[in-house]
Amino acid sequence: MNESDEGGPLGGLQTARRREALLLAPYAMHSCDSRGRVYPEAEHPYRGPYQRDRDRIVHSAAYRRLSGKMQVFTGDRGDYHRTRLTHTQEVASIARTIGRALRLNEDLIEALALLHDLGHPPYGHAGEDALDECLQAAGGFSHNRYGLTVVEVLEHRSPDYPGLNLTREVLDGQLWRGEKSAEPVQRLLEVRVVDAADSITYNAHDADDAVKLGLVTLEELAEVPLASDVCRALGKRLGTLHPEQARKLIVHDLIDCQVGDLLRHCSQQLADADLPDAETAGGSPLRIEVSPSLQVKKEQLEAFLYERVYRHPELLEMRAEAQARLHELFTQLCAQPDRLPIRFQKRAAEVGLARAVGDYVAGMTDRYCDQLHAQLCAGRRSRAMTRPA
Ligand code: MG
Repeated sequence: MNESDEGGPLGGLQTARRREALLLAPYAMHSCDSRGRVYPEAEHPYRGPYQRDRDRIVHSAAYRRLSGKMQVFTGDRGDYHRTRLTHTQEVASIARTIGRALRLNEDLIEALALLHDLGHPPYGHAGEDALDECLQAAGGFSHNRYGLTVVEVLEHRSPDYPGLNLTREVLDGQLWRGEKSAEPVQRLLEVRVVDAADSITYNAHDADDAVKLGLVTLEELAEVPLASDVCRALGKRLGTLHPEQARKLIVHDLIDCQVGDLLRHCSQQLADADLPDAETAGGSPLRIEVSPSLQVKKEQLEAFLYERVYRHPELLEMRAEAQARLHELFTQLCAQPDRLPIRFQKRAAEVGLARAVGDYVAGMTDRYCDQLHAQLCAGRRSRAMTRPA
């Protein structure tokens, strides 16, 4: 037994190793098996490698800017609904719950979850589609791929390397998000948990926001099979509640029934698979998802949200306006590259002007994008002209 084992101070990796040996399943990604970082760094005295990744993401400018990026609804609609940041936090919370129950590496899951939407451009998926059109000749745009660019290149936390120098496990997890069509690929169970948590999270909170904002009624939501099951389980109590309270209870139970079903389904699958280590788990076809019968109902809820919320005439109008602004701003910046910040002018020399403009615009918050559009595209159709004061 060495001095450390007798109670002396341990390094971060040793602390993580001891903790994980007690808590994690064999198929979990253990910190001591990490493939490390592109730019080698000394071990931290009290934080494990995935804790450090999480902290680097939380302290990044791109992460803070998620508070100014819309999820589904713009800031014009009050302050109840989710932003890209609160969505991310809800995903991390649900993913950690799933990960802990399945005895996976929560630190890695948290880092992956906090990173998963870091590359979202302004104006949500409308903005992503517009940027993809703007960048067609340069290879298109994907928020998942851009998230990697942010943490590998654009963020600056150290004079010793570009990006955040995250562990290879976190980078590979994000790389998988950007190339899902390339399956089958090696991916850790922790990566699959975050993907499952993402869809459970946005189904529930988009339903909540849509009812709260009046795009659909609670009665309409309650007719969707999964919500109908939840209402039936709540029984007569539901009818005694104020509608606000009823909505919150239904949304809570929508999450709870999906997470509970997923855990029952996956626990059995994991027991049957008897995976000896994370590498074997990463190559296995095991899926982290709800049971087949619940999957049908989950997809019915997603179809309802697509038809009644994401394609709502008010959202389609907002989407068209936002895309027009983004196209105009992109065109204007390509025509006036001297208006780019110096570091993006330098980046244009490396990756081409269109990609550098795309990288700059994708990093903006909704509000900053509006402001710059108003500045640079004066005389064109501006947001200020189309919206009430
Ligand atoms: Mg997401």
